Amino acid sequence: MMPNYAPAAVIPVRGSGSRMWDQEDREYIDFGGGIAVNALGHAHPDLVAALTKQAGRLWHTSNVLATEPALELARRLVELTFADKVFFSNSGAEANEAALKLARRYAFDHHHKGKERILAFDNAFHGRTLFTVTAGGQASYREGFGPLPGAIEHLPFNDIGALSEAFDKDVCAVIVEPVQGEGGVTAADKAFLETIRRLCDEHDALLILDEVQTGVGRVGTLYAYQSYGVTPDILTTAKGLGGGFPVAATLSTGTVAESLKVGTHGSTWGGNPMGCAVASTVLDIVSTDAVLAGVSERRQQIEGALRALGDKYGIFGEIRGLGLLMGCVLNEPWESKARDLMRAAQDEGVFVLVAGASVLRIAPSLIIPERDIAEGLERLERAIVRFCAADKN
Ligand SMILES: *Cc1c(COP(=O)(O)O)cnc(C)c1O
Repeated sequence: MMPNYAPAAVIPVRGSGSRMWDQEDREYIDFGGGIAVNALGHAHPDLVAALTKQAGRLWHTSNVLATEPALELARRLVELTFADKVFFSNSGAEANEAALKLARRYAFDHHHKGKERILAFDNAFHGRTLFTVTAGGQASYREGFGPLPGAIEHLPFNDIGALSEAFDKDVCAVIVEPVQGEGGVTAADKAFLETIRRLCDEHDALLILDEVQTGVGRVGTLYAYQSYGVTPDILTTAKGLGGGFPVAATLSTGTVAESLKVGTHGSTWGGNPMGCAVASTVLDIVSTDAVLAGVSERRQQIEGALRALGDKYGIFGEIRGLGLLMGCVLNEPWESKARDLMRAAQDEGVFVLVAGASVLRIAPSLIIPERDIAEGLERLERAIVRFCAADKN
């Protein structure tokens, strides 16, 4: 494969629940959840059943023909959210690409020429297509890929003053993550999201919430906007939606959706019957009170333990994020060594993630059993002991 990734030497071959096994049959506890994707762990029997049932019936039709699983998933998403309409694609970047294109097109259809500014935020992550990487707030991800799409501006996250100052009638959309995931697991302040909503309304701009990482129960409500009480015009969902099968969606109100007229946008595999069948099953399970309440309980259990580890070894400062999207900020002597700690954890049999150089990210299955949490935390503690000792040498 091309050298754009630096994969671990370990090669997992199977998984079950929150455990994975590598080629040597070594067992790992999965605190990374495939980067907030495996919302129900590995090989969940209901998802395997939904997938294999659909795999035996119909794989693909083209967008000339709608399929039952796509119609069914669209109906569920509309029932469970603010949205009236859904566009299907296969990844978070594609869902955001559609959202950004839709916002520009909506302004083109309804507003004055020149209403095309898109406001985005420092440290944001929206994907790796040219439009979405330009909306993202990490300059290094854009470097060398120009010329880039224009009229996209970045503002400091959670800074209401800067936002108010930048807003004018030429803004067509604001794109924001309720919790910045890749950028360091930083939650938006409620007042910040509320202000974005108010300014969008005042200036006829659309609010796009990128819930690719925060969606599908990750923060303890089905979508994070429901925790914040701030309703977007467009919402994107991907990672957890298929529980590990690639499927993504761009949701919007009916009025906004009208701008995606016949022929304006498309995707060959978007709405793939297998992805949609799996995603409907994921939503059925995740949208239950038991699973959503379980996210908050698990958060408390894990956060309590991480704080205790932080106090015992002096390694963590802030423990942040929402629900089961957690960031542990590494303290001074270990700052910018999150990757080393991630590797030490892997050596001890627990997979964790990083979010930037100085934040250890934990995003396990929403239904990870208590026993696996406890064992994963024990392994993480052993990794911390080794990591701290190694650092002294
Ligand atoms: C992962 C992620 C994306 C990109 O999703 P891909 O499926 O990798 O294209 C976009 N936005 C957010 C918030 C993400 O976490």
